[in-house]
Amino acid sequence: MAAGSIGVFATDEKIGSLLDQSITRHFLTNVTDQHGKITAEYVWIGGSMHDMRSKSRTLASVPTKPEDLPHWNYDGSSTGQAPGHDSEVYLIPRTIFKDPFRGGDNILVMCDCYEPPKVNPDGTLAAPKPIPTNTRAACADVMEKAKKEEPWFGIEQEYTLLNAITKWPLGWPKGGYPAPQGPYYCSAGAGVAIGRDVAEVHYRLCLNAGVNISGVNAEVLPSQWEYQVGPCEGISMGDHMWMSRYIMYRVCEMFNVEVSFDPKPIPGDWNGSGGHCNYSTKATRTAPDGWKVIQEHCAKLEARHAVHIAAYGEGNERRLTGKHETSSMNDFSWGVANRGCSIRVGRMVPVDKCGYYEDRRPASNLDPYVVTRLIVETTVLL
Ligand code: ADP
Ligand code: MN
Ligand code: MN
Ligand code: MN
Ligand code: MN
Repeated sequence: MAAGSIGVFATDEKIGSLLDQSITRHFLTNVTDQHGKITAEYVWIGGSMHDMRSKSRTLASVPTKPEDLPHWNYDGSSTGQAPGHDSEVYLIPRTIFKDPFRGGDNILVMCDCYEPPKVNPDGTLAAPKPIPTNTRAACADVMEKAKKEEPWFGIEQEYTLLNAITKWPLGWPKGGYPAPQGPYYCSAGAGVAIGRDVAEVHYRLCLNAGVNISGVNAEVLPSQWEYQVGPCEGISMGDHMWMSRYIMYRVCEMFNVEVSFDPKPIPGDWNGSGGHCNYSTKATRTAPDGWKVIQEHCAKLEARHAVHIAAYGEGNERRLTGKHETSSMNDFSWGVANRGCSIRVGRMVPVDKCGYYEDRRPASNLDPYVVTRLIVETTVLL
């Protein structure tokens, strides 16, 4: 089939689960009695700081808050997070979600990672020390300091679906290209809305889990999608975002499709993937001074542009070229309703004299703990 036509699916590689999921469905639907016990899937971020890991344990009762859950540990030498001779990494439960895969009272638990607890000379337990890949601890400190400002975030997560075998975008002609961008964004129809099953199942499961997902849309590159999480206050932005990614990995596993959070999965005249971060504080949300506060924030963000850019995602220089609805990586700019700027302020903000704004610089592979920490540091703590 000719490259350049739409509606082309690569059919010669197997797409779909390697196992017969009707068997799984049969047992998970018909064998449900857990005799009052529940399962907790402890989820954490692995050594690449993009990979997500998890393991399960059975609990005798249903916890109502993270503090009810036991701390746990894992072999950090198997995740690139500890040397083999001293491999224990500790997990501290932070946020509980429902487990939409197992259903019932079963839960998913977002955790972060610490060195094994140490005992002080006086016999008391020392404060746990975050391991180097733990970006949540510093974020939690900053959010605690800025609590009075009530920082809210909404992150737009763009991603691209790849054939797990060829690593080429789902539905693209083998080794070739589909018709140019135009018909795919917010599309409906075979050959244009490619991989909707993944986006739909992920949406429902996030809602069921209690992830604060706020919407989904097909994106500009064929097989690229977006979902938004937020508004979330403070540290919960990172917890909800990371759990939404975990759910995405699990959904893609079932379809045997690969999700790519790479900021520019296909070089050339194809859109990259961003992780726009929408942001407001109590002051920006309050008229009539909110609009003035937003302008002050923009000046502060401009002064720290280089620090932010350096932490906004690996490979972001391949995406922030000034083309494809991006700003150049080297310049800071802000504007009302301008999608070619680093910061876009909503059209109604100067009218309403308050509201939120959008930092368009973060890449799709952003670490939300790092990005939200920096934004709050720069705009309200410095
Ligand atoms: P875009 O027009 O850039 O595509 P989206 O509709 O995809 O924007 O995403 C907007 C995001 O902004 C959503 O995640 C939403 O929850 C978030 N948001 C809405 N209001 C606020 C606010 N006051 N503060 C922070 N984030 C907000
Ligand atoms: Mn073991
Ligand atoms: Mn969007
Ligand atoms: Mn988008
Ligand atoms: Mn956006």
